[in-house]
Amino acid sequence: MTANVFEIKKFAVHDGDGIRTTVFLKGCPLKCVWCHNPEGISSKPQLAVLQNKCILCGRCELVCKNHKIADIHTLDRNQCIGCGKCAEACFNGALTLYGKEKTAEELLKIVMEDKEFYDTSGGGVTLSGGECLMQPEFCRDFLKLLKHNGVNTAVDTCGCVKQDVYDMVIPYTDVFLYDVKAIDEDVHIKCTGVSNRLILDNLKYIDSRGSKIEIRIPYVPDFNDNQIEKIGSFLNEFKNIVGVRVLPYHNYAGSKYESLSMENTLPGKVPKTEEMETAERIIESFGLRVIR
Ligand code: SF4
Ligand code: SF4
Repeated sequence: MTANVFEIKKFAVHDGDGIRTTVFLKGCPLKCVWCHNPEGISSKPQLAVLQNKCILCGRCELVCKNHKIADIHTLDRNQCIGCGKCAEACFNGALTLYGKEKTAEELLKIVMEDKEFYDTSGGGVTLSGGECLMQPEFCRDFLKLLKHNGVNTAVDTCGCVKQDVYDMVIPYTDVFLYDVKAIDEDVHIKCTGVSNRLILDNLKYIDSRGSKIEIRIPYVPDFNDNQIEKIGSFLNEFKNIVGVRVLPYHNYAGSKYESLSMENTLPGKVPKTEEMETAERIIESFGLRVIR
């Protein structure tokens, strides 16, 4: 079995405890307006094109069996099969293929290179995305392999998958990094395109199973900044939340949207330091531990 992987980030320090390797899987059921990983939304491989790095050498054109690169500026995305041959041929860094099939054994070999760092820092491996649990069987098998090799595991999830998917991975997951974006359903739909009912129900379910949970709240002015108090109040009833991170929205990902020919939905306004401090104080006022 393989997974469609779009990035492997080594020495990650914001994706759970200690030094970690984060493996990003493609495909996401949400479409958050502030998404900074747009290459993770589609479940299919995607070619990113940085036109300003292209020197028109023509190597890509020679290797494209589909002849979809007559020149890089007229790539026909509807015809591109995402084979990645052009990206391998381009020595100037103008082309990147997001989404390569990897087996659990191949990934294990890569992540185990840094086992010593995990052991000395209290770190491990994090599965992220997109929504990694859209490839549930692979996640289960890979997490199981990691546990057999003595690696700490974290699953970064948006919560929008069927409940039985959590049953599959709970036995092999040390901590869930769980996004809570809004409590009001209409706000959630406006921000992500989907209802939050399943997401909030799944959070209650994971908590009832006794799994450790780190909550992550992306803070986006004019979108979900009016939800912080409601989120704090909602989380009050949970028993297994080990901490809450309030993550300031940033708008650095604009060039990624352009390189993938996707509509850039990123909001313009980023939060001020004082806003973040206020949001963290509100969360703390509900007796929750804020991770800074
Ligand atoms: S191989 Fe790279 S640099 Fe050469 S034409 Fe293609 S995209 Fe441009
Ligand atoms: S990814 Fe493959 S099909 Fe798509 S443009 Fe490159 S070589 Fe052609």
